[in-house]
Parts: sequence; structure tokens; C-alpha cells
Amino acid sequence: MSTSTSATTLNDAIVIGGSYAGMSAALQLARARRRVLVIDAGVRRNRFASASHGFLGHDRRAPGAIAAEGKAQLLAYPSVRWLEATVSQAEPCDDGFRVAIADGHVERARKLVIASGVVDELPAIEGLAQRWGQGVFHCPYCHGYEIGSGRIGVLASSALSMHHALMLPDWGPTTLFLNDAFEPDDAQRAALAARGVTVQAGPIARLVDAATVELRDGRRFAMDGLFTITRTHLASPVADQLGCALEEGPTGAYIHTDAMQATSVPGVFACGDAARAAGNVAISVGAGAMAGASAHRSLMFD
Ligand SMILES: Cc1cc2nc3c(=O)[nH]c(=O)nc-3n(C[C@H](O)[C@H](O)[C@H](O)COP(=O)(O)OP(=O)(O)OC[C@H]3O[C@@H](n4cnc5c(N)ncnc54)[C@H](O)[C@@H]3O)c2cc1C
Repeated sequence: MSTSTSATTLNDAIVIGGSYAGMSAALQLARARRRVLVIDAGVRRNRFASASHGFLGHDRRAPGAIAAEGKAQLLAYPSVRWLEATVSQAEPCDDGFRVAIADGHVERARKLVIASGVVDELPAIEGLAQRWGQGVFHCPYCHGYEIGSGRIGVLASSALSMHHALMLPDWGPTTLFLNDAFEPDDAQRAALAARGVTVQAGPIARLVDAATVELRDGRRFAMDGLFTITRTHLASPVADQLGCALEEGPTGAYIHTDAMQATSVPGVFACGDAARAAGNVAISVGAGAMAGASAHRSLMFD
């Protein structure tokens, strides 16, 4: 990191990522009258969906509306600053950590909270990206109910799609489209049959209409909703740069934390999707609250 950049006033904490997890962490620190800087690139994971489900008190609201209300409440605390920017680098320094944003500006803080989420790597199926968060989803609890017990298609991306295929019959009659992603063995076929899942072999050519699967042989299967499992990647490089221990989850790496959301690096906390194998808004807000309180505890006693 360049030393020629301006190193401004020492913050008590910098929160990297200002979505559900990060704002929740910042709120606890603000309520402890601590100086908090939130740096946020403004690219929430659920920005593709028109409604967010399952977060008590905000069920069925637009994801952006929930975030905007949270931000307004947070910025009412005078010790909170907000920077719309992308963090490019974080490193330890004498009094804590130095954090650089893309234009080279540097901020310092005694503690860090990483709440920068994950990025979904979508299966390479023509028409899927345009329908992501509309007709195609990954989380049954988030979007299964709205399919109204209609026809559900699972687009296999790996053997992990067995998990989806076995769950989704609770939300509607389910077809597993294998798309050459894996071949169920006899035991898996028996488990699928026991849950009433139809298995459809053959490569997918594309998705058409709202949620219709077209196979390469030309056959079309009209569904009311589609689910697929993505690969996930940490959205920011800071955990790697700081040397935080990672864990390998079923869909990708995430930051290892303890029950207090502390990472393996003293003074660095992590929360939200970046710090668990699978998450949602409610879990992110809860983990953020714990991360914020833990960072405050660390400011007082470490
Ligand atoms: C299509 C879709 C629909 C979903 N629907 C639901 C639903 O209905 N209900 C539900 O509970 N969950 C839903 N989820 C899951 C939900 O989006 C996540 O669990 C939640 O957004 C995680 O919150 P977070 O704060 O950890 O991360 P995010 O909300 O992803 O926010 C991370 C923030 O960090 C910022 N950031 C990343 N890198 C940097 C950087 N280097 N510098 C600065 N900022 C950075 C990003 O710009 C972003 O603002 C859905 C997910 C998807 C993909």
C-alpha cells in the first residue's frame, strides 16, 4: 500500500460492506458512541430480486427499500460516516489497520469488520442470467412460497443439486433437469423417487419465457419457478490480504469466525454471507449485530 496517500483520523472501526450485515454491525458500534466508517460498493447480492422474503418485519418488501431504511436509521447517528467506494486493500499498521479504496485514498481504524458478502457464479445456461432473482432462484425459503405450489424445475449444477431436488417437493411438484451436470446413482434415484421427483436427462439448450426449460433435443418444459445452486466467491479480497483463515463450504470458501464473529486475525471481525456457508438477510443482520458488539468489546478490553 502506498504511503503517499492521506492517512486520515483514526476510526474506531471500519466496516467493509454496507448492506444488511455491515449496517447491523455499524449500528451496534454507533450506539456505543464509537467512530465508525462504513465503506460500501453498493452491490448487494439480492439486487436482482424485486422482493425479499423471510426477514421478520420486512417480509415481501423490496430489498433496496429495506437497505435504504437501514441506511437512513444508521446515518442518524453522528459518529457514523459513509463512503461509497470499493475497498481494494487492507493491511495491519501500528494503531490497527489501513484500508485503501480504489482511488488510492487511505483510511485507518483500530478494528475491522468484513461484511462484503459473496458473488454468485451462475451456471452457464443461456437465458439464466436474465432471469436470476425473477424466475430463477437459489434459496427455497426465500422464493419457494411465491411459486404457489406450482411446477418447480431444479437446474442441476453438480451433485449438490440433489439437496435442492430433495427439498423442493415441499414447495411444489419438482423436476430435476440433470443437464449433464451429474448422474444420480441407484440410491440417489430411489431417494428422488421417494420424494416424487421427476428426473429429466439431457443437456439444456436455454431458458425461455418466464421459466421454461428448453432441452437441446427441442423439448420444452414449462415451469412456474426454477432453482439452481451457484458457486460463490468472496466479493472482496481483504480477508485474503489480511490472512484470515477460510473454510471451504459446499458452494465456495467463506471466512472462518468464532461464535463472536471474530476471525483468526485479532481485531478483524466478519459477518453475513462472507462468513458462513449459506445465509439470508435475517441471519446476516443477526451476525452483524454480534460482529459489531464484538468489535466494541475488543475496542474496550483488548
Ligand atoms: C437472487 C437472490 C435473491 C435473494 N432473496 C433473498 C430473500 O428473499 N430473503 C433473504 O433473506 N435473502 C435473500 N437472498 C440472500 C441475501 O441476498 C443475502 O443473504 C444477503 O444479501 C447477505 O447480506 P450481506 O450484508 O452479508 O451481503 P450483501 O447484501 O451481498 O452486501 C455486501 C455489500 O458489500 C459490498 N462490497 C463488496 N465488496 C466490497 C469492497 N471491496 N469494498 C466495499 N464494499 C464492498 C457490496 O457492494 C454490498 O453492498 C437472496 C440472494 C439472491 C442472490
